Amino acid sequence: MRELIREVAKKHAILNAYRHGGKAVASAVIGKVIAELPDAKRDMKLLVSVVKEVVEEVNLMGLEAQRAYLELHHPELLERKKVAEEKGLPPLPQAEAGKVVTRFPPEPNGHLHIGHAKAAIINQEYARMYEGRLILRFDDTNPAKERLEYYEAIREELEWLGVEPDLVKNTSDDIETLYEHAERLIRLGLAYVCTCRVEEIRRGRALGLECPCRKRSVEENLSLWDGMLKDFGENEAVLRLKGDMKAKNTVLRDPTLFRIVLKPHPLKGTAYRAWPTYDFSAPIEDSLDGVTHAMRSKEYELRDELYYTILDALGMRKPILVEFSRLALRGTPLSKRRIRPLIESGKVSGWDDPRLATILALRRRGITPEAIRRFVIEMGVSKVESEPTWDLLYSMNRKLIDPKSKRLHFVPDPIRMKIENAEERVVRLRCHPSVDLGFRELRVKDEVYIAKGDAERLKVGDRVRLIGLYNVRIEEVGDEISASYAGESPIDLPKIQWVGEDRVGFRVLIPKELFRDGEFNEDSLEVSDGFAESAVEGLEIGEVFQFVRFGFCRLDSKGVAIFAHK
Ligand code: ATP
Ligand code: MG
Repeated sequence: MRELIREVAKKHAILNAYRHGGKAVASAVIGKVIAELPDAKRDMKLLVSVVKEVVEEVNLMGLEAQRAYLELHHPELLERKKVAEEKGLPPLPQAEAGKVVTRFPPEPNGHLHIGHAKAAIINQEYARMYEGRLILRFDDTNPAKERLEYYEAIREELEWLGVEPDLVKNTSDDIETLYEHAERLIRLGLAYVCTCRVEEIRRGRALGLECPCRKRSVEENLSLWDGMLKDFGENEAVLRLKGDMKAKNTVLRDPTLFRIVLKPHPLKGTAYRAWPTYDFSAPIEDSLDGVTHAMRSKEYELRDELYYTILDALGMRKPILVEFSRLALRGTPLSKRRIRPLIESGKVSGWDDPRLATILALRRRGITPEAIRRFVIEMGVSKVESEPTWDLLYSMNRKLIDPKSKRLHFVPDPIRMKIENAEERVVRLRCHPSVDLGFRELRVKDEVYIAKGDAERLKVGDRVRLIGLYNVRIEEVGDEISASYAGESPIDLPKIQWVGEDRVGFRVLIPKELFRDGEFNEDSLEVSDGFAESAVEGLEIGEVFQFVRFGFCRLDSKGVAIFAHK
């Protein structure tokens, strides 16, 4: 164990030191070691003494040697840091190295989309920047909407994004603690059970009127609360904070803290019937989890006051709320609330439909996790509502995949071109113009196929170059094209891609904007059929490649690829 601790401690000590001017702090390193090696906690004395020893050694190394060590042994740790540094996430207020705790709190009621990725990645980047910890907390307190499959799916999608939390937990596991805090509020006279009908509650809030329930005694409230926990039905009662029914900020007009949901909870079954609202569970969980900086998207701004009111009422530690803008992508719905009806009505095929900006869909198109990371960091944490187009994401992705993607030929809507005076040949073409990704061979007799889009632009007498083959002169145009061999020199001629004898039928699905001017775009999924050179059969499912003059694609299944971008 000692050796294992030493090894893990060394990595974290050097990283911690390197990020803080050459000196590591033992307390920060201990946390990291425990996160990686939970068993180390069993012998805290050993752990502390080993870490102290390691930290002392590391602090004598100097920055240069620390950097060299990381480059050699843990280059991935340096890489990640760079992204945030280069793009410069602004510093967090009152953040202390080694003490920052952030959290990403998804509700397991659907798959993640790129907006969630923004929240998760920014929280992670900040935790890293300050050598702190990231908590993944499933905010699962509305059994009416949550499902077991989404817990696992969300973890997988985060893993794919490279978001590795230091701790994973469920709010539902703390339900009894949340009950205790509710009871404390009741005893303090700061919360009451309201048995008004939903419409009455709504009306009271709108008009700023207190309801009779507000006057109940503590004893009466405690006994009704007991009913809420044990046998009340849905909509029979809610627990409300005694706020201010005349408050300008309507959020404070006696907000609901608990309601009854009888649908079984995915993890807890029917053991509980009173479930906290987000307004109640979020501040308490953040406070208990040790979160120092709670990031929320801007629409929660009006709820900040309530967040602090609840913590003040309970005398609990208050995290700092940090706001960032909600990510939106032009023409693409992000919210689960908007995605689900599209799936249910069959307008899209599922959470992984390539037109969506879910993690599943982006992955299916060949958008890389690193591109998503750069994109969301670029969008930063500014409060300005941003609605970037997809193009920015595409350009970041292109840079990353270009050096790794094989080049292949695809001709959508193929048109036959007969070639006079052509000699049969086999050409060997590089799979990448500048990176060594191998070669492929293409056989040609006296005809090739070209894309209809290219064919339509050809006129009799034109000369064009068939990429990597030879030049041809156009002799006749029509449903088919007649051409003749016209030399080898790759002079300044328009170049077009082609396929010869070794070709296979191939399909590319091309996602377009789902919505145009607010209307569902019926042509949002274009299907492009054609011939690809047979080398596509050597691609692996999931491989990203480039069809020359067509765009980057990812092989989705045999014979079918999904278009990523130009
Ligand atoms: P949705 O509308 O998609 O259901 P949500 O906010 O209800 O979104 P949650 O699972 O509760 O979904 O969200 C988890 C976290 O992700 C929250 O902290 C939320 O602020 C953040 N988040 C969700 N959508 C976006 C977005 N478009 N941009 C930035 N952050 C987002
Ligand atoms: Mg939500």
